Amino acid sequence: MTLTVVGSINIDHVIRLPQFPRPGETLTGSDYRIVPGGKGANQAVAAARAGAATRFIACVGDDALARSLVEGFAADGIDVSAIDRMTGINTGVALIQVNGEGENTISLAAGANGRLTPEQLNRHSAGLSCEQLLLQLEIPLDTNIAAAGQAKAQGARVVLNPAPAQALPDALLSLVDLITPNETEAERLTGIAVHDDAGAAAAARVLHAKGIATVIITLGARGVWLSEQGQGRVIPGFKVEAVDTTAAGDTFNGALLAALQQQQPLEQAVRFAQAAAALSVTRPGAQTSIPDKTEITALLE
Ligand code: ATP
Repeated sequence: MTLTVVGSINIDHVIRLPQFPRPGETLTGSDYRIVPGGKGANQAVAAARAGAATRFIACVGDDALARSLVEGFAADGIDVSAIDRMTGINTGVALIQVNGEGENTISLAAGANGRLTPEQLNRHSAGLSCEQLLLQLEIPLDTNIAAAGQAKAQGARVVLNPAPAQALPDALLSLVDLITPNETEAERLTGIAVHDDAGAAAAARVLHAKGIATVIITLGARGVWLSEQGQGRVIPGFKVEAVDTTAAGDTFNGALLAALQQQQPLEQAVRFAQAAAALSVTRPGAQTSIPDKTEITALLE
């Protein structure tokens, strides 16, 4: 089975602070790092490290860091032949603040991710003849709809991580087989607050009614709500000490698709993905925190 990820690449600027500054306030942080990020990139890296044969369709800018980012993806074993370098624009940027509780706030500038248009995608349409397609929402919506439509027409499983949170048209949702919102994203998509199991079940029903067969709502440290054909239940996560939850969701998604690629049944794949995500929250950063298959397997034993 082959996995294609279509999505974003960002350079993350991460500052750790005791708490988030209020509007107008200046706070001095304890640590600053530049690390590779972007939901598409994080999920591609998570999938590859978890053992999936992964192709990544994306755009970087013509800044100095772009080349080393792509070299890093190749070192993780990702097929980088469909990552294009765009001229006259920067690679996407994320400004990330992490507080003393390990929570984060993120501000984005799309940069070259905005150049991943449907026309640009079509240059790599061979990449969409895959068994699984994984999408997020940091590239133009039209591109996601085009990618999902092409992959679906060729019989692929279309997986959408609907992040960052936004309302979405049925034109995209109707093409999705498996969706993985967190609680905020599920509420934005359905209008139903996910504060408890009843809320998760109700939100999942709305998404099933759009034609989505499998709904996985991630619940942070609690685990996930897994719903198939309207039958839902909590699958608990792993207990770890959270240092930085950045990329927990991305790690979950990449590892989930790796496990599905390896033909694991869905519930077992969810456990594998939750083990990967739990490991990622014990370490700082985005791609720097993503574990490999050996570590994930060790936590599951
Ligand atoms: P982020 O935006 O921080 O990357 P998210 O909001 O998309 O994450 P979450 O629901 O917070 O996604 O987390 C995804 C999965 O990661 C959870 O379902 C869980 O398996 C794991 N996870 C997250 N936080 C923790 C934690 N504190 N301890 C253990 N596992 C966690």
